[in-house]
Amino acid sequence: MSEKLQTRCVIVGGGPAGMMAGYLLARAGVPMAVLEKHADFNRDFRGDTIHPSTLELMHELGLLDEFLKQPHQEVRELRAVVNGQVVPVADFTSLPTRCKFIAFMPQWDFLNFLSSHAKQFPTFQLRTESEVVDLLIENSRVVGVRAKTPRGELEVRADLVIGADGRHSIIQARAGLERREFGVPIDALWMRISKKQDDPEQSFGFFQHGKLLVLLDRGGYWQCGFVIPKGGFDEIKERGLPQFQNDIVSFARFLRDRVTELNDWSKIKLLTVQINRLRDWCREGLLCIGDSAHAMSPVGGVGINLAIQDAVATANLLAEKLRSGAVSVNDLRKVQARREWPTRLIQGLQVFIHRRVVTGRASGRRNSLPFVLRLLKWFPILRQLPARFIGVGPRPEHFRSPTAV
Ligand SMILES: Cc1cc2nc3c(=O)[nH]c(=O)nc-3n(C[C@H](O)[C@H](O)[C@H](O)COP(=O)(O)OP(=O)(O)OC[C@H]3O[C@@H](n4cnc5c(N)ncnc54)[C@H](O)[C@@H]3O)c2cc1C
Repeated sequence: MSEKLQTRCVIVGGGPAGMMAGYLLARAGVPMAVLEKHADFNRDFRGDTIHPSTLELMHELGLLDEFLKQPHQEVRELRAVVNGQVVPVADFTSLPTRCKFIAFMPQWDFLNFLSSHAKQFPTFQLRTESEVVDLLIENSRVVGVRAKTPRGELEVRADLVIGADGRHSIIQARAGLERREFGVPIDALWMRISKKQDDPEQSFGFFQHGKLLVLLDRGGYWQCGFVIPKGGFDEIKERGLPQFQNDIVSFARFLRDRVTELNDWSKIKLLTVQINRLRDWCREGLLCIGDSAHAMSPVGGVGINLAIQDAVATANLLAEKLRSGAVSVNDLRKVQARREWPTRLIQGLQVFIHRRVVTGRASGRRNSLPFVLRLLKWFPILRQLPARFIGVGPRPEHFRSPTAV
């Protein structure tokens, strides 16, 4: 059975970029649909950070008070444990934003919140279990998408397709957009270990001799991200599970009484880390935003913020025109022009951090702190710089798109 739908804008992917763009376009009265391949937002492979700049947007949208009623943790200072030494890395308390903290909240709660508010707008549609498999192209213009659903095929025709389908984007691949890859020397292993009441507070991460363990507090358990050299998972498997468990404990000793929960490799998922960027983020009828236009590394925990900023710029620049009809490729290029340099800057910093900090080349002596971290330890005022980079980012966007009357 096949279903056909006609709308003004179809957004592929219900992640931070897609849901924020969907919310803002629907708020502006643009007829639109978000197609998400999963049945819900409950997936593990997501960061949990809601940045001060995103919280500022929530305030501008009048949603902040309600948003902060959701269970979350407010982190005003990020600390890292580097070769056994605690180093304060970022101090958010002097940011020029209403909320001077990062809110840690499971991303599915954030996306459910956005979706429940977006559903109040009559032009909003979220179609879950709708996996886009192809673009519809006529006379070189993208005119819609084809998706697989449990009920059969779905064809959506639209004046604009927004690719917000993340770092394995089918949209950018089918559109033939040229992509530049930046070498990344790391991958991440992703797993859960249960949490106890007297565990230490969440920190930025545990660094040791070029290795890194990140623990995200998800209430009843720690979501663990263990950074490994790219392609190194097979070697880790060959050394065996007990050795791997020891590695984890050597970073966070308080996990030693439960690290054996990781008793099967199926509980440990490999996430490949990439940094790449499209040369052109758009063509006639199509725009890519978020990781679909520029895949981000987890370093710095800034990819979600950047994806949301792209969505806000998209709505600011396109909503008014989309309300009355199609947008030209020149309109779409304005989104890239606005968002490209912040993306370049952040990706450049991520590549630098991969090379100098995460892979440990910055420090000569085994137990010494990299010079940059020593500076942060000695001069507290310098911690405002990483706070600005992580919490707000370059060129923060503000809500300017119209609101439907
Ligand atoms: C291991 C890891 C940890 C990270 N941790 C953090 C962090 O703590 N903080 C941070 O800011 N960033 C983090 N990042 C980066 C961050 O995850 C991304 O930059 C961010 O999620 C990008 O948002 P997005 O909306 O563009 O894409 P995504 O979040 O990837 O969302 C894409 C959505 O599209 C859907 N989709 C995909 N294909 C299709 C299709 N064909 N049809 C329909 N739907 C589709 C997916 O199901 C998904 O819901 C991390 C990245 C990795 C790899």
